[in-house]
Amino acid sequence: MTAPRSHRLIPLLDQRTIARAEPVALPIHGRLPLPGTLRDRLARPLRDLRISVTDRCNFRCSYCMPKEVFDKDYRYLPQPALLSFEEIERVARQFVALGVEKIRLTGGEPLLRKNIELLIAQLARLRTPDGRALDLTLTTNGSLLQKKAQALRDAGLHRVTVSLDGLDDQVFKRMNDVDFPVADVLNGIEAAKAAGLGPIKVNMVVQRGVNDHEIIPMARHFRGSGVVLRFIEYMDVGATNGWRMDQVLPSAQVIERLQSAFALAPLEASAPGETAQRWTYLDAGGHPDAGAGEIGVISSVTQAFCGDCNRARLSTEGQLYLCLFASTGHDLRSLVRAGADDTALAGAISAIWGQREDRYSMLRTTSEPGAPSQGERRVEMSYIGG
Ligand code: SAM
Ligand code: SF4
Ligand code: SF4
Repeated sequence: MTAPRSHRLIPLLDQRTIARAEPVALPIHGRLPLPGTLRDRLARPLRDLRISVTDRCNFRCSYCMPKEVFDKDYRYLPQPALLSFEEIERVARQFVALGVEKIRLTGGEPLLRKNIELLIAQLARLRTPDGRALDLTLTTNGSLLQKKAQALRDAGLHRVTVSLDGLDDQVFKRMNDVDFPVADVLNGIEAAKAAGLGPIKVNMVVQRGVNDHEIIPMARHFRGSGVVLRFIEYMDVGATNGWRMDQVLPSAQVIERLQSAFALAPLEASAPGETAQRWTYLDAGGHPDAGAGEIGVISSVTQAFCGDCNRARLSTEGQLYLCLFASTGHDLRSLVRAGADDTALAGAISAIWGQREDRYSMLRTTSEPGAPSQGERRVEMSYIGG
């Protein structure tokens, strides 16, 4: 069971006051690194950009936007604070020039942003320095996917990741906390498939005692469907979800449970910086069963993957975050709105990335200098996106 709500620690501060950005100084010597050579202090390249297009959501998942905090009085960002599509495209273009090959749109719920297809069309036109199209994807709760899948595909989106925390309607409704039915998300997934938005991934956040009994039913449902199901450990992101370690079901235990029902074997990572550990289903002869497909686990809590983390996050209001668990961002919006040209903007991003040494998950359990302190306030997931 989740902690009774009355027992949760709910901070009363506006979460964005903790997310005040570092002003960004323009580099004095404006030499940009050669394409693909930018590295942070731990020699990690910049490959993946996650862009949050809205801080609003039509769900109130208790692990992300609990109703008690994100209620009718919650002050979302006013429209002028949001980066416009033109601003997002401009910033994204500099990231691509510096090595980004994959862009994921997220939120809040990205499909709530009006005319999101227009942004997708703009981003789909970007090319890497050696002329390749980007891997352009989007993470959604699936609620509007049935309606929008075809338009997203037509605009140039390649694929989608859909979040779904269970197949049991009661469990799912309790988790999204707005009574949203499973069937509508499943219809959204079918619409995405029909529109060619694949390979589709489905993410299930596992909370012990809340939805862990849905692991096997979810695996059964998606096995052989062409959809890749991934189980995510419940993370201590933000400061509002009342996270407790005893609600985390370690991925190793997820795999154990799956192995009680299916024959599985581990797969090699398909790309550096990949967050999921992949497993293939085996056939009766012990060989990978291509028809059954694969599943994955994302062990964000029990197995740090900071060592090759190549992800940057751009918040809805244009703050650059270097880690999901960061407490401050770097203010790119001010630069853009002050009229910085492309070289200055790329120079600033490159300087910020060059200084990066974030590795929260690796430090979580240590007392090394720089390790996160217990009371440190972090930015909300709905603000910078997952
Ligand atoms: N609204 C969209 C959705 O739910 O897919 C996109 C934004 S959501 C913040 C991105 C991802 O973060 C989702 O897959 C969600 O399940 C995951 N997420 C949110 N809070 C989390 C937490 N505390 N632990 C693990 N994953 C979380
Ligand atoms: Fe909304 Fe996604 Fe957060 Fe759920 S996880 S509240 S759907 S942003
Ligand atoms: Fe990357 Fe930060 Fe997550 Fe580590 S904790 S994998 S640095 S986002």
